[in-house]
Amino acid sequence: MIKNKVILGHIVFSLLLWGYTGFYTWYRAPQWIAVLLPLGSFFAFNFMVISWYRVTDGLKLEIEPIPISSWGISLASRLPKEEWDDLRTKVYRDADYKCEICGNGEEQLHCHEQWAFDDKRSIQKLVRCICLCKTCHDVKHLGRSKEVYGKGHISLLVRHWCKINKRLEQDFYMYEKEIFTLNKKRADKFYVIKVGRRILV
Ligand SMILES: [Zn+2]
Repeated sequence: MIKNKVILGHIVFSLLLWGYTGFYTWYRAPQWIAVLLPLGSFFAFNFMVISWYRVTDGLKLEIEPIPISSWGISLASRLPKEEWDDLRTKVYRDADYKCEICGNGEEQLHCHEQWAFDDKRSIQKLVRCICLCKTCHDVKHLGRSKEVYGKGHISLLVRHWCKINKRLEQDFYMYEKEIFTLNKKRADKFYVIKVGRRILV
């Protein structure tokens, strides 16, 4: 889906480039304008595409927003408290009481439910539960964190994301925009939530 968009973008851009060059030649503009302007734009565009790939590829700590129709529906809220406590204790123990992303064992630990989305069939399926420190978990649910915490904590989360993923702050903002645009598209749908074969909602 994303690759198709990039290919389509390249095709549209190449067509514009031809039109642009043709336009300048038609009006007998100086040759250097007819050549350099479109060429410069072409390289700028490709640079943007390449840096976008770098931003989204191979991230260790990703933002995982939940579509609006699924807010408040989770294993934590649906399982009886004792069952949920048993499950998360096991998750913490299996991870040796350390965050599975950044390795921090000093902070409060959270059990994060990782979901996979089938947008065509509107299915949200549980992949697994992982042990995370509070900071990594706050990054995972950045949308919610922004509603709950102030600017100071959010900048800390941005810095944490950059440190774990070895990226720049500007990469974070590009990535955040991509993720929230995707989640906005999911907001119009109603997802069936599945845990194994069990349908939660
Ligand atoms: Zn962590």
